[in-house]
Amino acid sequence: MKTMVDEKTRTMLAIEREDQYGAHNYHPLPVVLERGEGVFVWDVEGKQYYDFLSAYSALNQGHNHPKIVQALIDQVKKLSLTSRAFYNNCLGEYEEFITKYFAYDKVLPMNTGAEGVETAMKLARRWSYVKKGVAENTAKIIVCEGNFHGRTISIISASTDPDSYGKFGPFTPGFVKIPYNDLSALENALKDPSVAGFLVEPIQGEAGVVIPSDGFLKGAYELCKKHNVLFIGDEIQTGLCRTGKMLACDHEGVHPDILILGKALSGGLLPVSAILASDEIMLCIKPGEHGSTYGGNPLAAKVAIAALQVLRDEKLAENAERLGKILIEELQSIRHDHVQLVRGRGLFCAMVIRPKNGKDAWDVCLALKENGLLAKPTHGDIIRFAPPLIITEVQLRDCIRIIKETIAAY
Ligand code: PLP
Repeated sequence: MKTMVDEKTRTMLAIEREDQYGAHNYHPLPVVLERGEGVFVWDVEGKQYYDFLSAYSALNQGHNHPKIVQALIDQVKKLSLTSRAFYNNCLGEYEEFITKYFAYDKVLPMNTGAEGVETAMKLARRWSYVKKGVAENTAKIIVCEGNFHGRTISIISASTDPDSYGKFGPFTPGFVKIPYNDLSALENALKDPSVAGFLVEPIQGEAGVVIPSDGFLKGAYELCKKHNVLFIGDEIQTGLCRTGKMLACDHEGVHPDILILGKALSGGLLPVSAILASDEIMLCIKPGEHGSTYGGNPLAAKVAIAALQVLRDEKLAENAERLGKILIEELQSIRHDHVQLVRGRGLFCAMVIRPKNGKDAWDVCLALKENGLLAKPTHGDIIRFAPPLIITEVQLRDCIRIIKETIAAY
């Protein structure tokens, strides 16, 4: 009995401490995690959970993947950071590996996803001045309503979500906002000759796994080609096997002019992002014109190689595709007043919850937590289900049971 009280106290103390000393820019579920392995995490009370968020898809390879951890340990003992003032003996190996892996000429390494998006926007603007002949300081980037590309001032300037941009102005100019999944709006916006790029998530993750109609990505890519505009794919959340293909753009055979990767590029061990493009685009940026102290560090280089190898060696795209079908079919079969709709692709899935009797998606997530599965609501009424892609069918079916029983208990 004493231990129970002590453990509960540990949870409460940890939450109170964060609340007192940390900024209140997140609203976490009341669970305090201290260990993770594969698809599981454990809280400070020793309770085990399935991780059904995977750190917003940064943990596609699962927690503490032994091969990625080993790569990190091996490298950290030798050299972790040089800055880019000097060469290091890992970056070139990584650059060759990742460019061949995704069939691009060049990579520009950064750290967080937001930095990757910022880099892509700078690169597109620069390309438009140097190669397309847009008058300097007039370049525009087309973005979609409902987007989520990160939290910097420029990125929130492109947002249509008041939670993201409200009272953070003044904003960066040069964004044109069009509805998502609307080719005629895109074609109209592309008529402006000062457009440099079209920045798009192949599936809108934060918006609640919003999947465009078949043919949208291909159509958008072709329109961009027609108007000499760069198609910029933000695959930070959708990429790296999450949707059942290596990239979500692969579902439509689209090869973005600029590809942005992050999150699972390190398997959850470090912030590692990458921007991939052709020589024609990438070489528009010259020495001293862009960079980051940590970008391209040897530790990140080795970790990213290992993380990409795991995706391929363990056939995680195939696993996501096969198990995703089971997850979506099973969840779509739920008949309950609370469940308005289920949609998804691969192991990237969302359940829209109809609030009832004062209970909403947050309450469902609290109940899931009690039953041993962690997921987080987005936009109040949507629960995203995105387990690590190493999950087995037996584990997935156990999770489906937990979700069904939790919903049925409502
Ligand atoms: N782009 C997309 C599509 C994302 O989902 C996210 C994060 O959720 C970002 C960019 C920003 O990445 P980060 O949080 O690493 O800055």
